[in-house]
Amino acid sequence: MLQGLPVSPGIAVGRAVIVRFAGLPAFRRAVSPDEIPEEERRLRRASRLASEEFRRHSGEAAGGIGEELSAILEAHGMIASDETFIAAILERARKDRVNVEWALAEVTREIGNRFEAADSEAMRERAADIHDVSREIARQLVGGEDFLPIELPRGSILVADELSPVEASRLDPRRVRALALERGGPTSHATIIARSFGLPAVVGIPALCAAVSPDRPIVVDGDRGTVDTSPSKERLRRSLLRVRESREKARRLRARTGRPAVTKDGVRIVVRANLELAEEIPALERHHAEGVGLFRSEFLYLKSGAEPPGVEEQRAVYEELLEAAAPHPVVVRTYDLGGEKGIGPGGGENPALGLRGIRYCLAHPEILDAQLTALCLASRKGPLSILLPMVATLAELRAARAALGRAARRADITEPPPLGIMIEIPSTALLCERFAPLTDFFSIGTNDLAQYTLAVDRANPDVAALYQPLHPAILRMLRSVIDAGRSSGRPVAVCGELASDPVGIAVLVGLGIRELSVTPVAIAGVKDALSAVDSVRAGALAERALDLSEAADVDRMFRGRA
Ligand code: PEP
Ligand code: MG
Repeated sequence: MLQGLPVSPGIAVGRAVIVRFAGLPAFRRAVSPDEIPEEERRLRRASRLASEEFRRHSGEAAGGIGEELSAILEAHGMIASDETFIAAILERARKDRVNVEWALAEVTREIGNRFEAADSEAMRERAADIHDVSREIARQLVGGEDFLPIELPRGSILVADELSPVEASRLDPRRVRALALERGGPTSHATIIARSFGLPAVVGIPALCAAVSPDRPIVVDGDRGTVDTSPSKERLRRSLLRVRESREKARRLRARTGRPAVTKDGVRIVVRANLELAEEIPALERHHAEGVGLFRSEFLYLKSGAEPPGVEEQRAVYEELLEAAAPHPVVVRTYDLGGEKGIGPGGGENPALGLRGIRYCLAHPEILDAQLTALCLASRKGPLSILLPMVATLAELRAARAALGRAARRADITEPPPLGIMIEIPSTALLCERFAPLTDFFSIGTNDLAQYTLAVDRANPDVAALYQPLHPAILRMLRSVIDAGRSSGRPVAVCGELASDPVGIAVLVGLGIRELSVTPVAIAGVKDALSAVDSVRAGALAERALDLSEAADVDRMFRGRA
């Protein structure tokens, strides 16, 4: 039994599909000895195609940009068809009884590690060469695609080293039963997507991929954070029983979600939905969401490949959202690119502190202009608001407002839609009242606010224990924002994951929050948790919580007492 972090609740039993995304992406499949000839044929074909591809590029480079590049590509072509290399991969496939994709990734990693450990710079460069060559062979193995095809057999459990937001958004939730990852944290985007698909998930188990066998069922327990890689018959039986019970419980809860959310003492709380993908739109009605409190539009961009989606393509999605949410409002957040979402700076830089969110969009005005125009056009169809991510300065807000004014003129509307800002940077939270005159509403992103306040990477399992969104320092910031909202008459919502945590809900209501936005499958549970909160009692506890020293103290004080 392996222990990790429980990040999305529920339990699932299924066959593992093992995938590595980092380095050289590859699926692991069990292969019997009589399948090896077919694997050899596939590998030899891919190696030939890769070699031809490199030679073709080498020829082009020779006639164009340079001899040096041409020579490198020529050498790549030779490595791709090198018999020693191919033989090593086939030997690995035979020995470990795995598919050639997996064997290729393993052999590449080993050779790469050996070169990287060398003293000479030239040898270290060879590591990069071998990696480039293998990546092209891997691409040819999956039919020339850049992405790994994520067509999993129905009922699979996806076991992977990590899952980027793009890969996560490409999963088909009807085929996957659960996720188990080596990396990731409580609010990393793979986790958020697992929750929005209602999939149990466990993250933060190092060397998980090597520990799981692809031909045996495993049990992923998203409540306890465990992965059982070789469950006994009895364990399988009990787990299947729990799967049935939790389905039944979810059904009972859902049956009650039609009613609006109120606290035990009758305070009305608005509960909206966080959506990442247009495919989730039907979930709005199914889970009785009062509109969309956060549409993470960057997933539109990430899914569209290299080119950002055009104005009309975006407009169609925003209009579809408005139609599905009517008569409730829809809040679309402009692209929050950069950071862990995969566009923008990477490598040795710290992407979470880099050109992310509104910073990225202001640096690429054509992208922002197209999005704001699409939003203005769609706003004719219903109550749409625009939310800016990662706002750190008044100058950013002013620049975005000016861009919105221009977009409104382009879309020929007299009034631009309401414009709000995410509160997810500590400095903005503390000086929130200065932003109020320029903004129409606030939405608190506790996921990033916790990451930046506590200096804890939200996606890193090594520091997951330090990721404490209930920390009194964060509660004090929430208080500052709520006060600024009250004195300026600007509504304040919370759209981070804290809004679906039972203790978090009591704390937020106690601090004065009256609007939450959560993943649709969590809505039933959120309403249930709200019905147990006494807002007056929670208010008194929240006041005291501001003077506590640690998140654990806050948690202890609220548990069962609000
Ligand atoms: C947040 O930071 O809390 C948030 C809602 O935005 P995201 O999770 O997309 O960064
Ligand atoms: Mg955020």
